[in-house]
Amino acid sequence: MTQDIYAALGVKRRINAAGTLTRLGGALMDDEVVAAMAAAARASVDIGELQAAASRAIARHTGAQAGIVTTGAAAALTLAAAASMTRWDIARMAALPHAEGFANEILLHRTHYTGYAHALRAAGARLVDLGHNDRSTGAGVRGIEPWEIEAAITPRTAAFAFSANPSNLSDLPVVVKACRSKDIPVIVDAAAQLPPRSNLRRFFELGADLVAFSGGKAIGGPQASGILAGRRDLVGAALVQQLDMDVSPETWAPPDLIDLKEMKGIPHHGLGRGFKAGKEEIVGLLAALERFAAADDAVSNAALEKRLNGISNALGELPGITKRIAPARETGRVPQLYLAIENPLALSRRLQAAATPVHLSERFAAQGILIVDPQALRPEDDAALAEAVRTAVLA
Ligand SMILES: *Cc1c(COP(=O)(O)O)cnc(C)c1O
Repeated sequence: MTQDIYAALGVKRRINAAGTLTRLGGALMDDEVVAAMAAAARASVDIGELQAAASRAIARHTGAQAGIVTTGAAAALTLAAAASMTRWDIARMAALPHAEGFANEILLHRTHYTGYAHALRAAGARLVDLGHNDRSTGAGVRGIEPWEIEAAITPRTAAFAFSANPSNLSDLPVVVKACRSKDIPVIVDAAAQLPPRSNLRRFFELGADLVAFSGGKAIGGPQASGILAGRRDLVGAALVQQLDMDVSPETWAPPDLIDLKEMKGIPHHGLGRGFKAGKEEIVGLLAALERFAAADDAVSNAALEKRLNGISNALGELPGITKRIAPARETGRVPQLYLAIENPLALSRRLQAAATPVHLSERFAAQGILIVDPQALRPEDDAALAEAVRTAVLA
């Protein structure tokens, strides 16, 4: 059925051992998640009420005060930036993305400036870079320091953005401590920091005010879904800028998360109106989150390692290739099979040009490694993947 849909469109199905990459469609959803989305598609609900229910579920799984479903982690970052700049001020909400008249600067350490910084700027924020962070650049032993942050905070500062990865987590409490006393929200991009499952709670335990997760990566939800979770007031200010606001003030019944008392009126469509999360995405994300949170890292990693061993055995000895399975504790996420080879991108190009294209992760190509990432690899494709790699290497 699924294959027929793509074939009918003249679109090739691909064997994806590159991970939950957005450009390859993100995660694959379990049948139960697909069924939840299909069921959600067949009835009308109030989206604000549905987001409030999502908030309760997200709070239960993350320990955050509140959370909403977004159309991805990048959208969550844009909404987080907007909420940090506006809080409950509806005139500011109306002004965005023009934010020159109020605190519109987001502090960002140089080593946290990723391709997703654009998502923060999209809300109208101006990014202010700071710090040296020699530990991240490899130039020395010092990481983010409180005085650098304190010196950078001005009345124009709206938030601090932090792009989390396994090696920089120890910097987060330093940032939180420096920002908290000045009421500067700390926004964490944790889009791809799952698994480990403990990271659902970790960033909140470390004091983050807002955290963005992808729904279409490890959580296994719809590709166009994500989570923005954190402080109730900020999540509420994000939600009111995401919802359809073509409402009659006389009849509108917003969820509790939206604090009517704090607002001087009812805002119009906000900056996030174009990032609307549909009922299908919201319900699908929640179904996926339930399943993800209930599973066990050790069990799922052991199963993935077993599959990678099978793939490695099926590959056998290949000239010019050294194989090694990197366990989850090394990769920081899931176990992966590393293929060390002289010209990794040439092999990757051949694999992608096959009749059924095959994708390996090129993340470490500069170090001469292609990675078999099993996260979005269908078990029934394991044998075909090994065969395709053998064919491409021996060609
Ligand atoms: C994938 C990713 C994003 C974007 O997530 P989407 O859910 O695709 O919007 C943002 N930041 C980082 C670090 C990511 O890896």
